[in-house]
Amino acid sequence: VDLPIHDAVLGDLNGRAGLPALVDGVTGRTLSYAELDLAARRTAAGLAEAGVRQGDVVALFSPNTIAWPVAFYGATRTGATVTTVSSLATAGELAGQLRDSGARWIVTVSAFLPVATEAAAALAAEGRPIAEVFVCDEAPGHRSLADLAATTAAEPAPRIDAGDLAVLPYSSGTTGLPKGVMLTHRSIGSNLAQTDSVHATAAGERIIAVLPFFHIYGLTALLNHPLRCGSTVVVLPRFDLEQFLRTIQEQRIEGVFAAPPMVLALAKHPLVDRYDLSSVKYVLSAAAPLDAELADAAARRLGLPRIHQGYGMTELSPVTHVVPLDDPAPPPGTVGKMVASTELRIVSLDDPDTDLPTGQRGELLFRGPQVMKGYFGRQSETDAMLDADGWLHTGDVGYVDEDGYLFVVDRVKELIKYKGYQVAPAELEALLLTHPEIADAAVVGVTGEDGTERPKAFVVRAPGSELTGAQVQEYVAAQVAPYKKVRAVEFLDAVPKSASGKILRRELRARPSATGAPAI
Ligand code: ATP
Ligand code: MG
Repeated sequence: VDLPIHDAVLGDLNGRAGLPALVDGVTGRTLSYAELDLAARRTAAGLAEAGVRQGDVVALFSPNTIAWPVAFYGATRTGATVTTVSSLATAGELAGQLRDSGARWIVTVSAFLPVATEAAAALAAEGRPIAEVFVCDEAPGHRSLADLAATTAAEPAPRIDAGDLAVLPYSSGTTGLPKGVMLTHRSIGSNLAQTDSVHATAAGERIIAVLPFFHIYGLTALLNHPLRCGSTVVVLPRFDLEQFLRTIQEQRIEGVFAAPPMVLALAKHPLVDRYDLSSVKYVLSAAAPLDAELADAAARRLGLPRIHQGYGMTELSPVTHVVPLDDPAPPPGTVGKMVASTELRIVSLDDPDTDLPTGQRGELLFRGPQVMKGYFGRQSETDAMLDADGWLHTGDVGYVDEDGYLFVVDRVKELIKYKGYQVAPAELEALLLTHPEIADAAVVGVTGEDGTERPKAFVVRAPGSELTGAQVQEYVAAQVAPYKKVRAVEFLDAVPKSASGKILRRELRARPSATGAPAI
């Protein structure tokens, strides 16, 4: 637990040095464990020679590739902190993260250089230039990881304390601006140990890495954890359904770590039936609410007993709950049981000092070694989230059943207050997705001229469907209490979602048509 992250993951290669660690799902290029380890060590030597010092912040701005972990562990080996950047970031967003994190270095890919260069120029104009921009592949005028690794300099030997910052990922920005989350070698290492017994992947097991490494879920579930177990990580740069399915078939993928949009596709998309997905042994979904019926539909299509869920957040390194892969009968819809050495309190939404009994819904508070150190440079936001006794206030609503299974209802901030009642968008979205002619859906609260907030549904019709708004409303009204009725419907081509699979409700709210939407 107190090892630096690269040692926790790659410290002892005994028995797996020759196994494939990473496979490029597009080209088939493979890195064995020994090659990955050596490349990270040589990259560290090159980075140190280039001037990267312990405590520096290195921004890693790249889609998933097999070089991503080389850059990542190479940087942590110098004692630097890696701030992982969304591969969808614009120059303005990247500049914002560079500024906020105090990054001095950028590691990117040639395709992202226009964005990286523009962001670096913005910082230079402010008088705090980026020291150097490296590329993972090749680009004229930039040193590549291979150039760095070619050095004859010795590998740096920083004395890394377990309390030092290992990673500075940014929260997804679903509810506000993304915040830099200070995760230490200890918080990440603790969480790896805590989840060992529940979702350890096997040595040689083949898992598919299509969720982004830059997000803490991908970083943990797709790199740190499986690499520590000796699994083989097959890497894809982005979620393209056809490529994803073909790769599962061709690479005989056994483990799939997914987000709800991927489960939605597995449940509903006609393409799925064209591929042989019989190698898949389990699918685990996390990062956003997943409806039990939708999960069942996806599981049936894959011939699996169930889709497993997990729950976590960036601030928790990230896991607190998982449905163990060998759980024979978890209740439908649960996000699982709590991992070891973690404490949970569920408190009243009206009175945060009141703890609620089993079965009642309230805000989830966690304490444990996986809790973040705080938000980088944001003391007041840290204080609002992390209290003096070490409890992290998640902003999520949930309850625990008598057997200890957790159910997540929604975020406190997203609950729609309709005339004194609380409506969870996630519940209405789940219901909408059970309609055969609805391909995707999102619900937000819109405030009318009378000041009342009402649920509004954004619906993506299935191909060929001519579903009307009134039909959507009737479908929901027939199945819910009157206060939960959908009061307005708008049709969309696609629901805006983040790279980690979260519905971007603020984008829906910001749509011109969303303001003053008529209440029906
Ligand atoms: P920000 O904090 O910047 O608004 P974010 O909360 O979406 O963004 P993340 O840390 O990526 O950033 O996501 C954590 C959140 O994801 C949790 O607080 C919870 O709301 C949601 N979540 C994660 N797993 C699940 C799950 N299995 N079911 C429901 N919600 C989940
Ligand atoms: Mg959050």
